[in-house]
Amino acid sequence: MQKSRCPICNSDVIVDDESIRGDMVNCSNCGSDLEITVLHPLLLTKIEDELAN
Ligand SMILES: [Zn+2]
Repeated sequence: MQKSRCPICNSDVIVDDESIRGDMVNCSNCGSDLEITVLHPLLLTKIEDELAN
């Protein structure tokens, strides 16, 4: 298991070791849908931000 930080509420989000870039995870604290944009170091981005381009 890896841990990253929710960009919305700043709480820890658990990411499965087998996750790949582009996978979606859900923050258990605020419920935001997040996308894994970088694996090393682990970086999560809110999905709405990705669609904004
Ligand atoms: Zn959150």
